Amino acid sequence: MVSAGSTLVRPRPDAPAVMPLSTQQEVAEAAREMDGAPATTILRWAWWSIPRFCVTSSFGADSATLLSLVAQVDPDIPVLFLDTGFHFEESLTYRDTLVERLGLRRVVHVQPWLSVEDQASLHGDALHDRDPDACCQIRKVAPLDQALEGFDGWATGVRRNQASSRQTTPVVQRVVKGGRSLLKVAPLVNWTAADVAGHRRLHDLPPHPLTLRGFGSIGCQPCTSPVAAGEDPRAGRWAGTTKTECGLHLGPTRRSEDE
Ligand code: SF4
Repeated sequence: MVSAGSTLVRPRPDAPAVMPLSTQQEVAEAAREMDGAPATTILRWAWWSIPRFCVTSSFGADSATLLSLVAQVDPDIPVLFLDTGFHFEESLTYRDTLVERLGLRRVVHVQPWLSVEDQASLHGDALHDRDPDACCQIRKVAPLDQALEGFDGWATGVRRNQASSRQTTPVVQRVVKGGRSLLKVAPLVNWTAADVAGHRRLHDLPPHPLTLRGFGSIGCQPCTSPVAAGEDPRAGRWAGTTKTECGLHLGPTRRSEDE
C-alpha cells in the first residue's frame, strides 16, 4: 500500500506521450467500437494508450472483478482507493485481502483534507445524516478530483444495469475535472450481476464479508444498510433518502455524465 503523492504522477517509462481520442467524434467512435469488447481488451487498451492511467476502486461488493482484471493486465496499474474515514472495518480488511491475493502493487490511499474529527468540528456531527451531498463532496468527490490531477484517464467498475443513472454509460467518454479533460473508461459496462458472480466463481475470488450478511452494495458505514432478498442491491445506499449516487459518477450539474 502506498499513500497519495510520490507514485501518483509517474507514468510507465514506455507510456505514450500523446493522449488518444483528441476529438469528441473520435471518443464517440471508440466508444461504439469497444462496446461489447472483452473487459480485459478495454482495460489493456486504456493502460497502453492513455499516458497516465489508473483505476479507482471502493473495494466493495463487486470490486474484486475489476481488480482481478487489473492483476491480469498489469498489477502495476495504479489503483486509487478513497479512504473516506467512514468505511466498515470489514471493507478495510477485504481491501488488504484482495491486494495480497491479487498481487496489486500500486494501491494508492486517497484521503480527504479534513479528518473525520475536523469535519465534525467545522460542520457539526453526522454531516452524512444532515447533508450527505456535502459530506460526499468533502470526503469523496473533492479528494478524487485532486488525485486525478496526476492522471490523464481512469477506469471504474460502473455497470449499466446497476442503476437507472448508469444505463447509458459509454465504454469511454471525456470528462472535465479541474478544467482538464480526462478519459473515463468503463470496461465492465455491459456486465450483468450474473457475469460478475460467474467471474468470481471462475477465479475463486473471495466475497466481501458483508455480502454474506445481506449487504448488496457497500459504501461508508453510516450510509449503507443491508437489503432484502430480491431487492435492488443499491437500495441499501442512503436508504430512506432520494440520494442514489455519491457524486463520483455525476457531472457538474449533478445529472449523470452518461445522460
Ligand atoms: S457515503 Fe455517507 S459517510 Fe461516505 S462520504 Fe458520502 S455521506 Fe459521507
